[in-house]
Amino acid sequence: MASDSIRRFLFEKLGIRGEIVRLKHSYKTVLERHSYPPELAQLLGQAMAAVSLLGATIKYQGKLTLQVQGSGPVNLLIVEYDSQRQIRGIINWKEDSLLDMEIGKLFGDGHMAITVNPHDKASQYQGIVELVEPSLAGCIEHYFKQSEQLATCLWLVVDANCVAGFMLQQMPGTTEESDDWQRVKLLAETLSDDELLTLDDEALLHRLFHDDDILLFESEAIRFHCSCSRERIERMLLGLGKDEVDSIIQEQGNIDVACEYCNKNYSFDSVDAMQLFTDGDVGLHSDTRH
Ligand SMILES: [Zn+2]
Repeated sequence: MASDSIRRFLFEKLGIRGEIVRLKHSYKTVLERHSYPPELAQLLGQAMAAVSLLGATIKYQGKLTLQVQGSGPVNLLIVEYDSQRQIRGIINWKEDSLLDMEIGKLFGDGHMAITVNPHDKASQYQGIVELVEPSLAGCIEHYFKQSEQLATCLWLVVDANCVAGFMLQQMPGTTEESDDWQRVKLLAETLSDDELLTLDDEALLHRLFHDDDILLFESEAIRFHCSCSRERIERMLLGLGKDEVDSIIQEQGNIDVACEYCNKNYSFDSVDAMQLFTDGDVGLHSDTRH
């Protein structure tokens, strides 16, 4: 079993699909970049599993973003996942006493947005829901019910170094929750956290649904990847404008910008800045005007 992978399966006769995801290296990589309180490391892991599960249901070439924002002790959670199954994520917080894991309380008056950004910008869309359920999994189930009218169940489990997620969903086009859906859901509810973290995919599906015909697809690898680049930081500096950039360099000697996701540092000295505003001058007038 690959350590970071997603696997889709299908109940051929029931109009129900499902997925199993497990993340180890990518989760470890994300945690290595910041020193998160354990509750937030766990929430970030859940979000990474959730986004991988969501990403696998969408046919697109592009990027899927899960963002939770609020005014509570935790103010921002972002996880991005693209059609190459590359993932990155961060969580920002203001207070260290985060004992209450209810998502609504962590984020205060917050909301969750799911955005699909395909390479062809025409079919971009965003769904937003309030944080009405106590768990992230519950909020995503609520999102599917409200935005997509799809009965969906999610289980998200995190231990010290592994994240696992399991999802069941009625196929699009099915409006009523069928008896089969209820039965399959009840069986899935008997799955323990430990089983989800440790059983391999075949054993897990056999343990839950050995009376049903299931088509299990090939496992697909997921990896951590940060899409930051020097060019992106340059565009941001061009957006700030020459005067602002010059004044920071005068004050601090150079400009250091660290990527929030991967901690990579991008440094610009006065020569870099001069070159940037000479080469990048064309077409930027509209961005720099106030
Ligand atoms: Zn980065």
